[in-house]
Amino acid sequence: MVNYKDLGLVNTKDMFARAIKGGYAIPAFNFNNMEQLQAIIKAAVETKSPVILQVSKGARNYANQTLLRYMAEGAVAYAKELGCEHPEIVLHLDHGDSFELCKSCVDLGFSSVMIDGSHLPYEENVALTKKVVEYAHQFDVTVEGELGVLAGVEDEVSAEHHTYTNPEEVIDFATRTGCDSLAISIGTSHGAYKFKPEQCHVDPATGRLVPPPLAFDVLDAVMEKLPGFPIVLHGSSSVPQEYVDMINQYGGKLEAAIGIPEEELRKAAKSAVCKINIDSDSRLAMTAAVRRVFAEKPAEFDPRKYLGPARDEMEKMYKHKILNVLGSDGKLAQC
Ligand SMILES: [Zn+2]
Repeated sequence: MVNYKDLGLVNTKDMFARAIKGGYAIPAFNFNNMEQLQAIIKAAVETKSPVILQVSKGARNYANQTLLRYMAEGAVAYAKELGCEHPEIVLHLDHGDSFELCKSCVDLGFSSVMIDGSHLPYEENVALTKKVVEYAHQFDVTVEGELGVLAGVEDEVSAEHHTYTNPEEVIDFATRTGCDSLAISIGTSHGAYKFKPEQCHVDPATGRLVPPPLAFDVLDAVMEKLPGFPIVLHGSSSVPQEYVDMINQYGGKLEAAIGIPEEELRKAAKSAVCKINIDSDSRLAMTAAVRRVFAEKPAEFDPRKYLGPARDEMEKMYKHKILNVLGSDGKLAQC
């Protein structure tokens, strides 16, 4: 049994309370490998932002849950070495699908877990989430629940259609489960293909496809029911067109990949939304940079020569999100 506090990690409680008050959101970036983690930590340190490191089921299968935990512990030391004396780093399980998995993450040193019972009948979601909360809270680990189903594909989480969160259920769910934050469905979606072209309209100024707007009426209704309660948005990559173009220019084949416009996320970040999950944008940045090196220097075979530029591109993207979309820069409690 390892407690996250011994690893220098923090839970989400304080940072969410400050984010709601301050009208910004904490970035939750998924990681699977060293270069991604280095880029996240450098971006967070340089912008003085709190940050949530997320581990999905796919990441655990790819990199091993224990190794990822040690990497997060290393990330705290790395942040300090980069000059941040009091980093605020959360290690969070993304889309936990069982009590046993959440328990094993709590026992291993995670400071926050998500239990995703959103696909279950309502009463079963309540019971499962409550069970995880009761266990996690004994160790001061915070818990994210989910109500409503997001469309799209992310690792092993997938659904055909959205089911928007029903605002009538949120008080009951939050009260009975005791969860610390709630992921809701208002039209964001997992993966790089969030919308089909026929769901979008063409912006006459740029000629680019614009997806349907997020259901801010649902978010408003949730906030009215649960004033001051931390809300989470999953599937909030913007799928930057420059990366899609770069990937295609250098031999890739991404068709009509469309994400959430950053102005919508900026608007959400100012509300009770205090955690915004971004995964696909990092995958796109990494792939675009690697493809460019392979295309421009076909004789290169030192992985550091293509993973290095990929790391730089991810760092640039993470900083942009922190500074220009979420507004979490300069928000550490102590520098
Ligand atoms: Zn998700």
